[in-house]
Amino acid sequence: MHSFDVVIIGAGAAGLFCAGVAGQSGLKVLLVDHTDKVAEKIRISGGGRCNFTNLTTGPDNFLGQNPKFCRSALAGYPPGDFIDLVRRHEIGYHEKHKGQLFCDRSAQDLITMLLTECAAGGVVHWQNCPIHTLATEGDGYLLGSAQGAIRSRAVVVATGGLSIPKIGATDFGYRIARQFGLDIVETRPALVPLVFDPAQWAPFAELSGLSLPVAIETGSKRERARFREDLLFTHRGLSGPAVLQISSYWRADTPIRIDLAPDIQMQQTLLRAKGLSRKLLGNELAALVPSRLAETWIAQDARLGQDWHRPIDQTADKALAALAEQVARWELVPTGTEGYAKAEVTAGGVDTRCLSSQTMESTQAGLYFIGEVVDVTGWLGGYNFQWAWASAYACARGLASRLAEP
Ligand SMILES: Cc1cc2nc3c(=O)[nH]c(=O)nc-3n(C[C@H](O)[C@H](O)[C@H](O)COP(=O)(O)OP(=O)(O)OC[C@H]3O[C@@H](n4cnc5c(N)ncnc54)[C@H](O)[C@@H]3O)c2cc1C
Repeated sequence: MHSFDVVIIGAGAAGLFCAGVAGQSGLKVLLVDHTDKVAEKIRISGGGRCNFTNLTTGPDNFLGQNPKFCRSALAGYPPGDFIDLVRRHEIGYHEKHKGQLFCDRSAQDLITMLLTECAAGGVVHWQNCPIHTLATEGDGYLLGSAQGAIRSRAVVVATGGLSIPKIGATDFGYRIARQFGLDIVETRPALVPLVFDPAQWAPFAELSGLSLPVAIETGSKRERARFREDLLFTHRGLSGPAVLQISSYWRADTPIRIDLAPDIQMQQTLLRAKGLSRKLLGNELAALVPSRLAETWIAQDARLGQDWHRPIDQTADKALAALAEQVARWELVPTGTEGYAKAEVTAGGVDTRCLSSQTMESTQAGLYFIGEVVDVTGWLGGYNFQWAWASAYACARGLASRLAEP
């Protein structure tokens, strides 16, 4: 029979980091993963360079039923602490966009760093080791694994969300939570491209590959979310940072609204142009938004009965105002998302009301949940890894104080 202080299930971002910190605090730690690889999501993240944190991280950058839950862990392990660790390991990094930090060379540098930290903590590490059963035994737990029975004083579930099943994502964490009577906030793909009815999307499918800066929003009143980022047209719908961000807030059967030229007062600009120009309206629009988009827009409006192929000085003010309104407030109802196969993260998860915000221990004593399996979902831009580090650190500290006495 194997015996450990802590078994951590899932050798991803949160599990690896938690194992290293807990091991270095003197605990006897076993880290297991059901695949033969570690931290595949770190490896593929940020185009292979891993956007490992964001300098601006705060609770407002996260979604979840209790938006305040993440505050304590984020404050206890801020981005600067992880950056110090990266520096100690002499990993070069740079800031790209809005506080996002990336490795200069490769995400592999971070994986090597996390494995080195685990080794420094004497962490025992088993790959290809699915956990079949988990049950309480006395004050601790008994796990049935591919490598035999394991006795442990505490268990940390760090198995992540459902996105990208082909690299090892499973619903294991949610199943364990349910087994011990913990609630799950319904899961859904987030940071994911949105898709539209193929017939309605057909005119825009031709724009696939076109990218432009937009303002995008969804919801209303207190539920309203708004971002200014780049939008990308795809064959099936919309993607790019703007749409990934808004997708986390989007709810089925509700619209998204896009301002295709957020830096321009469209109505005033068109009215001013009317007084100065005899160009075709389409040509004037092409000076304000990418010309491919202007052409498609005009072709599609022509089909809807408008005639934009006339000089701007012969166009009624009312028609110009209507065009400006459409461009500044393009309202669309997605039919769905590209699903977990393309989602960067899973929104929802283990209900934070069942967890301590200080230690991530659940209402089931000795059972902890960290990282993406928890109902805390970050924006695009390094926030999800920062949550993985911060929740893992809070958990490791909690384990160290809980298990300090023999
Ligand atoms: C393409 C892509 C790009 C991304 N880019 C970024 C980015 O640049 N910045 C950012 O902040 N976030 C990014 N993310 C999100 C980020 O990768 C995740 O939020 C983060 O990895 C979550 O960490 P985690 O440890 O909770 O889960 P994971 O890193 O997913 O790790 C979970 C681990 O658990 C293992 N596991 C699952 N089920 C079992 C089981 N039954 N038994 C044993 N082990 C199991 C898995 O094999 C995996 O190793 C990206 C995600 C994707 C998909």
